[in-house]
Amino acid sequence: MSWWPFRKKPEAGPRAADAPPGDAASAAGQGPPLETEREAPAPVPEEEAVGALGLLTRGLRKTAAGLKQLLGLRRAIDEAFLAELEVKMYEADFGPDTVAALLDDVRAAWRAETLRESGQIAPFLQERLRAQLQAKDTQLVRAPSGPTVILVCGVNGTGKTTSIAKLARWLAARGDKVVLAAGDTFRAAATEQLQIWSRRIGLPLVTGGARSDPASVAYSACERALAEQADYLIVDTAGRLHTQANLMRELEKIRRVIAGRIPGAPHETLLVLDATTGQNAVNQADAFHRAVALTGLVMAKLDGTAKGGILVTLHNRFRIPVKFVGLGEKVEDIAEFSAERYVQALFA
Ligand code: GDP
Repeated sequence: MSWWPFRKKPEAGPRAADAPPGDAASAAGQGPPLETEREAPAPVPEEEAVGALGLLTRGLRKTAAGLKQLLGLRRAIDEAFLAELEVKMYEADFGPDTVAALLDDVRAAWRAETLRESGQIAPFLQERLRAQLQAKDTQLVRAPSGPTVILVCGVNGTGKTTSIAKLARWLAARGDKVVLAAGDTFRAAATEQLQIWSRRIGLPLVTGGARSDPASVAYSACERALAEQADYLIVDTAGRLHTQANLMRELEKIRRVIAGRIPGAPHETLLVLDATTGQNAVNQADAFHRAVALTGLVMAKLDGTAKGGILVTLHNRFRIPVKFVGLGEKVEDIAEFSAERYVQALFA
């Protein structure tokens, strides 16, 4: 990846079984010092933007291919064409409301003879989608002083752990000091997986014992982040089903404890969603947002789906910005969400 300034070769996600034997958890306060394996300086923004567009274009190619099948034909626009366009947009998971609104606009422009042939559709849709998506603030929040605390939620299997590692490494690449906290104490494998990632990316991880209270891990992690003068603390949380009341209570407790130690925290509560799951992702966003007031979404596995329009559905339905997109299994396969790059990649 040309824009990614790391020296190490990118690797796919670790499994607990990969853990080197005898490597004890970085118990609270005993992780590697923050200065270990500091990364190269942040890339210049222009190079980064070009690289992120490349990643996004690669990640969205399945979605783009579906749209291109129709839009690349240079056909005259008529009702039959509009019906096919509607199907393609449904297939790409733009969602009924967005499809209806976009189709109305296309039809009106066709009747007004502003649009005549299929080649004009992509720029027309790009402009409308850009306008919808750009209204949201997609930048990661930064606390005015002290560590910025990011709480990461998500159902098991969505790509939560991988996304945490990607985000941590992305921040470290910009020169930020990052501390990780293994708040998913319910599953031993979750902590082990995060330990492997933390070693790979050279960032400290605060863990508790098996089945320890996630809120106490979060508290220790706040102490560690403050002591180390970290810029970011990323806290993993249990990835059980969003329908479980216990989990929601647990998240609330973690939030209270974090806020008690670092005023204003958590500054971000991100939900990781699996882009390949369609309506499930919408249901999960709904349940988590009701319970914990999400500030942003991380859309993982966008590369594995032809339904990249799900992002627009979520944007319009919940008014929660997508802040990052996951575009592959490697730790560098992440891009900050940008409406401009997204609409370009969608119709690439
Ligand atoms: P968790 O259970 O939610 O923590 O999920 P993991 O982080 O363990 O990820 C589950 C699977 O999804 C793993 O095989 C990851 O490599 C894979 N994965 C995570 N993010 C992405 C992504 O953006 N793209 C692709 N293709 N796979 C991903």
